[in-house]
Amino acid sequence: MDIELKKFEQLKATGELPSPKGVALTIVRLSQRDDVSARQFEQAIKSDPAFVGRLMKAANIAGREKGRPIASVPDAVNVLGVSVVRNLALGFSLVSGHRAGACPNFDYPGFWSRAVVNALALQSIFKRTGWSNPEEAFCCGLLAEIGKLAFATLHPKEYSRLLGELVTIDAPAIERNALLREREIASFALHHDDLTAAMLTDWGFPGVLLEPMYFRHCPERANFAPDSRGQRLLGAARLADAIADLCLAASELRETRLLALTERAVAIQLEPDVLQGIVDSVVHDWAEWTTVLQLDKPGPLPSFSEMMKLLKVEAGDGQDASQPALRVLIVDDETSMRMYLRAVLEQLGYQVFEAENGQQGLETALSVQPQIMIVDWLMPELDGLQLTRALRNTRLGREMYILMLTALGDEERLVEAFEAGADDYLSKPVNEKVLAARLRAASRTAQVHEEVAQDHRQMKQFAAELAVSNRRLHEASITDPLTGFHNRRYAMERLEQAWAVSTRNDRPVSCMMIDIDKFKLINDTYGHDVGDKVLTTLAEVLKKNLRANDVLCRIGGDEFLMISPDADSEAVRSCAQRMLLAVSKVQIETPLGNVSCSVSIGIATRNEGMVDMAMLLKAADEDMYREKIGGRAQLGNQPARV
Ligand code: GH3
Ligand code: MG
Repeated sequence: MDIELKKFEQLKATGELPSPKGVALTIVRLSQRDDVSARQFEQAIKSDPAFVGRLMKAANIAGREKGRPIASVPDAVNVLGVSVVRNLALGFSLVSGHRAGACPNFDYPGFWSRAVVNALALQSIFKRTGWSNPEEAFCCGLLAEIGKLAFATLHPKEYSRLLGELVTIDAPAIERNALLREREIASFALHHDDLTAAMLTDWGFPGVLLEPMYFRHCPERANFAPDSRGQRLLGAARLADAIADLCLAASELRETRLLALTERAVAIQLEPDVLQGIVDSVVHDWAEWTTVLQLDKPGPLPSFSEMMKLLKVEAGDGQDASQPALRVLIVDDETSMRMYLRAVLEQLGYQVFEAENGQQGLETALSVQPQIMIVDWLMPELDGLQLTRALRNTRLGREMYILMLTALGDEERLVEAFEAGADDYLSKPVNEKVLAARLRAASRTAQVHEEVAQDHRQMKQFAAELAVSNRRLHEASITDPLTGFHNRRYAMERLEQAWAVSTRNDRPVSCMMIDIDKFKLINDTYGHDVGDKVLTTLAEVLKKNLRANDVLCRIGGDEFLMISPDADSEAVRSCAQRMLLAVSKVQIETPLGNVSCSVSIGIATRNEGMVDMAMLLKAADEDMYREKIGGRAQLGNQPARV
C-alpha cells in the first residue's frame, strides 16, 4: 500500500475533509496528550450523553464474554482502551455529522448501513479467531470507505455526476467499484481507497489493519507472504466485505452472495460453525446498532443456517465437479416447462435460476449473470426475441449463451431469432438428450469466454502490478530506511508545498531544525549500533510530540526537519519545548550502561522579509546553530552525558 501523500496533503489543506466535531474532537485531542488525567478524559466523554450511550453499547459487546455488564464510563474506557474510545468518538461523530449531505447521488444512509455491517463483521471475525483486536477492527471497518464520503463532501456536484453515470452501467459491484476508482482518479487525481488509507493513517489507525483493508478489493496486488498475519487479515477483510454484501443484498441475490461468502470463509479455513456464529452475531448486533446510531432499520434477514439451505448445488454427470457449476437461467412463463428443465439441468450439475417472464428474466440475468440462458420465444411482457435484443445491448448480456425455445410453427422464423442475437435453438417438446448435447456446446462457448476474461484479468493485473512497483520505487526514493521517515528530498518538496499553501491562504508556516548534540561522540563511545538506536528512539519520541498537521523528516545524519503548516511561532515554540522535555527523559539501554542525550532545536516562522522557503529553512538553521553555540541549553536542553 502506498498512499499519494502529496495529493492527500493538498486535500487536507482545504480543511473540508470529513473530520470529528465538538466533543468528539475534544476526545480525540485529549487522547493524544500525555498530561491528561483519566478523570479529565472521562469528563469530556460524559459531556456528550449520546456518545456515552454508544460507548456503553460498544463496551458491553466487547465485554460480553466476561459476563459482567459495563455501566460506567471509567469501566467502558477500561474495557475498550483509550485509543479505541478515541476512534469510536471519531467514527460516531462522522456518522452523526454526515447522515445526509450535498451530493444528490450519494446514498448516505446506505453508506452508513454498509459501514456498520462491515465493522461488525470484522469485529466478530477477530473475536472468534483472535487474529487482531476486535474493537480496533470495528473502528477500522466503520470507516473502511470513508474516502467515498470525503469525495461526496469535498466535491458534491462532480462526485454526484460520477455516481450518476455509473448507475446506468450494468456491472457487478466489484467492477463498478473499479470503474468508480478510475473515474475518481480522472477527476480528482486520487481514488477513494487511497484517500481512505491516507485519512485513516492520518488519524493514527493501526497500519497492520489498514493494509489488508486496502487490498481487500484487489488481493492480487497485495504482497503478503503465504501464511503470514497480513495474509490472514486480508482474508478476514475480504470475508467481512462478503458478509456486508450478503446482509445488504436483495433476497433473490442472497444465494450468489452466500456462495461468494463461503468461498472466502474456506480460503481462511474457517470452520462452518464458526462462520455461522460470525454471521448470526453480525445480523443480531446490526439491528441493535442501527437503533443506537439512529440509522435505517435493516429488513428481516433469515438466520445463516436457513440461508445455507439455499445452497444445494450438486455436481451431476454433465459437468466437471472440480469446476464451479455453470449458471443457467430459464425464462419461461409455463411452470411445468420450468420444472422439467430445472430437473434435467440440475441432474447435469448446472446451477439453475428461473424467471417467469421476459422482464423478470432481464433483471435476473443482469444480477445473477448466467453463462447460459434458455429463453422461451412467446411470453407476456417481453418476449424471447425482445429479451435477447435487450441483453445483447448490455455489456454483460453480450457474453451469455442464449438458447431459444421454439414451438413447432416457429422453425420458419428462426432467422429472426438468430438476427436478434440467439446462439442456438431448441424445439419443443424438448428432448432430454438433445438438450444435454446442446448444453455441451453452450458450455464450451462459456468456457472460451471465461478463458478470454481470464487473459484480460491477467493483463489488467500485470498493468496494476507495474503501477504498484513504480509507486514503490518512488516511495523508496523519498524514505529514510533507518527511521522510516521521509528523507531530505521529500522534505524539500513538502516544504515547498506548505510554503505555497501559506502564500495562497495567507496563513503562517513554521519549521524546526532538530540536531542531536554530540552525536559523533555517542558513536565513538558506544559504537555505531547504539548510535542507530539513539537515532530511531529519538525519532519516535519526536514523532509522538508532533501536532496533527506536522511533518517530520530525517534530512541528514543526525538532523531532522519538522514542517508545521499553519503554525505560528508560539505554537511551534511550545511544540519545541515539549520535544526537549520528552528527549530529556529518554534513557537508552546499552551494554555499557544507560545513555541519555539531548537535541538542539532551531525554529523559524515565515515573516514578511522572507521571499521563499529557502530563507525560512536558513533562519531555522541559524537559530539551531545559535542554540548550539549558546551551550545547548537555551530551550532547556542538557548536553549529552556520555
Ligand atoms: P553537534 O553537537 O555539533 O551536533 O555535534 P555532532 O557530533 O552531533 O555533529 P556531527 O555533524 O559532527 O556528527 C554527526 C555524526 O552522525 C557523524 C556521523 O558519523 C554520524 N552519522 C550519520 N549518519 C549516521 C547513521 O545513520 N547512524 C549512525 N550511528 N551515525 C550516523
Ligand atoms: Mg549533531
